[in-house]
Amino acid sequence: MAVVHVVGAGLAGLSAALRLVDGGANVRLWEATGRAGGRAWSFHDRTLGALIDNGNHLVLSGNSAVLDHCRRIGSFGWLDIASEAALPFHDLATGADWVLRVPSLSSPRAALPPGIGPGVIADLWRIMTAGAGRGVSDVVRPGTPAWHALWEPLSLAVLNAPPDAAAARPLAAVLSRTILRGGGACKTVTMPRGLGPTLVDPAATALLDAGVEPVWRHPLTAIEQDGGRAAALVFGERRVELGPEDRVILAMPAQTAGALLALPAPSAGRAILNAHFKVPAEAAERIPPLLGLLSGRGDWAFRRGDIVSVTVSGAEPVAAGAQEALLAELWSEVARATGLAGTEPLASRLLVEKAATFAPDPASLSRRLPLRPLGNVVLAGDHMSPPLPATIEGALRSARHAASAVLKG
Ligand SMILES: Cc1cc2nc3c(=O)[nH]c(=O)nc-3n(C[C@H](O)[C@H](O)[C@H](O)COP(=O)(O)OP(=O)(O)OC[C@H]3O[C@@H](n4cnc5c(N)ncnc54)[C@H](O)[C@@H]3O)c2cc1C
Repeated sequence: MAVVHVVGAGLAGLSAALRLVDGGANVRLWEATGRAGGRAWSFHDRTLGALIDNGNHLVLSGNSAVLDHCRRIGSFGWLDIASEAALPFHDLATGADWVLRVPSLSSPRAALPPGIGPGVIADLWRIMTAGAGRGVSDVVRPGTPAWHALWEPLSLAVLNAPPDAAAARPLAAVLSRTILRGGGACKTVTMPRGLGPTLVDPAATALLDAGVEPVWRHPLTAIEQDGGRAAALVFGERRVELGPEDRVILAMPAQTAGALLALPAPSAGRAILNAHFKVPAEAAERIPPLLGLLSGRGDWAFRRGDIVSVTVSGAEPVAAGAQEALLAELWSEVARATGLAGTEPLASRLLVEKAATFAPDPASLSRRLPLRPLGNVVLAGDHMSPPLPATIEGALRSARHAASAVLKG
């Protein structure tokens, strides 16, 4: 029976493999490292004495592919979906607190950050109608209250880049799937059990149940080509010849897939830093589950139990010697924002993901790879759901496209 080789056991690869198995295909899953999940994973951290995610992942109820994935692997019931679309913010410069509310039929009250007038509608229109080569800062006026409290934080949260380094199209794609659909699509979806236990581990278990055990520590190092098709996959010393009916899904980051295929690809984007703090129980009670931060280094604070995790998006990697100072700065921002000045965390840990996303600037996006670069090779991964930026939603959507392209032959 023909084999479909899926290379990469991140969320795109896991989901593509499951869809193929569900469609009756004979699947082999290859992975460069010794674990599944790729850029979305959880682990037990000894310093904190807790299971933590590599980084906060903001998921909204409009991310239908994420919800479908959880339904398929049996973890939907573990998701915590907020009852309304309301995000609390704190501005560290002014001390102002407000809630951003997106109205829905069941919860019709809207609320915008203070000082934002009807001009925000014109900004939104320009973002939604921007051409492919336009950046966010080409279409939205800098220096306005809407820039400070809405467009800059949204650009960082959604695109992992500030407005002057981000194209408008992927931001528009996210807005059209969330805010423009109303509050029902903008409720935060959190994972109390953790990212890995909710999105990754049950998918790996479902594959094992279907007889697909990933081949770990097998980085694909070359693709031998013949007549516009892949003839063999080379994993270091191991060479796997492809039969005439065999197919391949490459579910790996854009830069790796581009290098293997000798094609130009989107470049790697900026780093994302996450500072994790274990806090005393009485302090944890005063910190909301999710808080947006403005005018400081941190962008978001997520709290799960007594662990508070602060994200810095669009960041430069931090030298080892500067990490303690950064942890202290990020904790002091959370403490100021939540009225906990004087409280110290019990333990802390900084995680740096250098290649968290692909770069979302227009030049990088103009190098998106084709779905089928070779006759029997299809690509998946977060870079393969244009115009979406690098997100879990994009990765899972790409898996659906890739698997159906293979199953349809
Ligand atoms: C800190 C952080 C915060 C983030 N925040 C958010 C967020 O808030 N919301 C959101 O939606 N998304 C967020 N993302 C992005 C999201 O995690 C990714 O878009 C998504 O996980 C990508 O999945 P993927 O399967 O496409 O790629 P990957 O997760 O990169 O998986 C690719 C897999 O392929 C393997 N591989 C690579 N090369 C080879 C090779 N040569 N041979 C074999 N295997 C190979 C890798 O080891 C990996 O397991 C964040 C990412 C990070 C790191």
